[in-house]
Amino acid sequence: MTRTPKLRRVRTDAALRPLRHRLADVEEIPFHAADGVRLGLTRVGTGSTDRPAVLLLHGHTASADMFLVPEIRNMVDVLVDNGYEPWLLDWRGSCRLPYNETGRRYTYDDVALHDIPAAVSYIRGRIGDRPLFAVAHCIGSIALSMSMTAGLVPGLAGVVSQGVFLTPRLPGRMSRRMTVAGELMKNRFDHIPVDFRKVGLWSKYTPLFALAARKAQCPDPTCQILHNSAWGMGISLFVHGNLSETTHDRLADLFGPAPLWILPHLRRMALAGSVVRWNDTDHRYGALPVNALDAAGRIDTRVLLLAGSENGLWQDSQKVCRDVLANRQPQLDVSYVEIPGYGHLDTFIGRGAALDVFGHIVDFLDKTRS
Ligand SMILES: [Zn+2]
Repeated sequence: MTRTPKLRRVRTDAALRPLRHRLADVEEIPFHAADGVRLGLTRVGTGSTDRPAVLLLHGHTASADMFLVPEIRNMVDVLVDNGYEPWLLDWRGSCRLPYNETGRRYTYDDVALHDIPAAVSYIRGRIGDRPLFAVAHCIGSIALSMSMTAGLVPGLAGVVSQGVFLTPRLPGRMSRRMTVAGELMKNRFDHIPVDFRKVGLWSKYTPLFALAARKAQCPDPTCQILHNSAWGMGISLFVHGNLSETTHDRLADLFGPAPLWILPHLRRMALAGSVVRWNDTDHRYGALPVNALDAAGRIDTRVLLLAGSENGLWQDSQKVCRDVLANRQPQLDVSYVEIPGYGHLDTFIGRGAALDVFGHIVDFLDKTRS
């Protein structure tokens, strides 16, 4: 007998969905971006007040939960055990917040201008002159690169970027599909859901799930839309065998719906091969560089670029970034580490990430703080 998936309600309020963790001391701070949008900011208590702080920035449609996955030894565990104080920002693209589905639309300019600088400034107010690092994944890292090159977050002690930083390179077929998908779907959908239980078996999204299921090895529809299809874009977001079964079964909690209205900004970056501002003529965004790569000379901290060797989304973006920066900004201290056998999301949510990935991050932080 087949089980009928339960329907889930689309969220319409601005309250944060609760975090899932197994920590004893977690402080959730009522926090708003500089333009008044409600965000989430969380400090993990460690029992001491002299540790360097680390701000963790999730990817788009993920949330702070990606650093707290309870079934693995996660990023927060490893930071706490190694003498750091983790801070987690849920920026406006978090699936703990409703904005990918409802509310005012935004671009990554808003994240770079309003979300990240406000979080950095709040944390600084709390930690005083202790060092503050940042560890950023995917779009969190793209937005951070824009904040940094705008000079909005000066004096970070060091930055770890996973997947992509200043030079986004998407697979050619994905760029083409973004164009086609954007055109085809903009009248019918405004976001792509990942949770089959939410949309039901028969809906306007059924063809999308059916497309993602083609040639899929795994029967789980959420896994298919993420692993086999990347929200309909036809590429893979993680190495399947790197996830624990528990994580695999809660992918729909870890990754929310993807808004289609963000695609033009992403497509502009992919065409430029660099992080670029969306709002060209709106003076309110004048603080952001038109092209963040051209403004890379403003970076004032050490940067570690990380990428899985099997990253199907951003491919060799990080390696290219290291080479381009070595050429154009030789005074910067930028290093690159490739993680063999890893894709994109599994670098943080993979069952072996503590062993294979987080060691590189902690090494960098330890080396940089001393
Ligand atoms: Zn699967």
